[in-house]
Amino acid sequence: SDYSFYYPISPDQYDWKKNYPNQPMDTKKVEIADVGCGYGGLLISLSSLFPDRLSVGMELRDKVVQYVEERIDKLREKTPGEFQNVSVIRTNGMKYLPNYFEKGQLQKIFFLFPDPHFKKANHKRRIISPTLLSEYAYILAPGAFAYFISDVEELFQWMYEHFKNHPLFEQVEREVAENDSCVPLIINSTEEARKVNRIDGKKWYAVFRRIEDPAKK
Ligand code: SAM
Repeated sequence: SDYSFYYPISPDQYDWKKNYPNQPMDTKKVEIADVGCGYGGLLISLSSLFPDRLSVGMELRDKVVQYVEERIDKLREKTPGEFQNVSVIRTNGMKYLPNYFEKGQLQKIFFLFPDPHFKKANHKRRIISPTLLSEYAYILAPGAFAYFISDVEELFQWMYEHFKNHPLFEQVEREVAENDSCVPLIINSTEEARKVNRIDGKKWYAVFRRIEDPAKK
């Protein structure tokens, strides 16, 4: 339950040194978040794609978080100096992201193969909704990218419509998405993506940009 895990009351109260012991956390900040990171496949790829940036996975399930922690620890031991820029936090991404990130802190956010919650009564548990998008917009910098992908067409449409209708997001141009180095990763690097590959399933994805607050222009 929510009571069983710690979360900081505000981003400045969180001790990032635990996650990145070999990074200058007095000057550096996490810029990339993978919400519902699962077993961490994307994080591992992000480590070498963005060697100078810090990425974090946010995952609800305790056992899965432990697995990712151990996975990163082993990689850090095996290849000294590497994988110091990726880590994982156990949290509920629908509730506590603003407790970890300041306004405009993130450059990228990922929602990869989120749980579909097929039943109508459970749609409120979906990771994308108008309210949650406003929260994600708050922690994203203007110009930052949000990526989402699903093998469930109905869920993809749901996420797409919500992003499309939100005043603080616009879809990135096709050429930009096609040349974005993260796109191949969202399609193939996560454990869920590989599962879909094994059964030759279809995937739908989109990339949106956090735009400048229109009120400020
Ligand atoms: N993104 C990973 C991938 O592509 O392999 C995992 C996909 S898995 C189908 C969805 C993950 O989201 C699960 O690991 C689940 O525990 C996690 N999850 C569900 N709701 C969440 C929430 N509110 N906050 C954080 N993680 C959540």
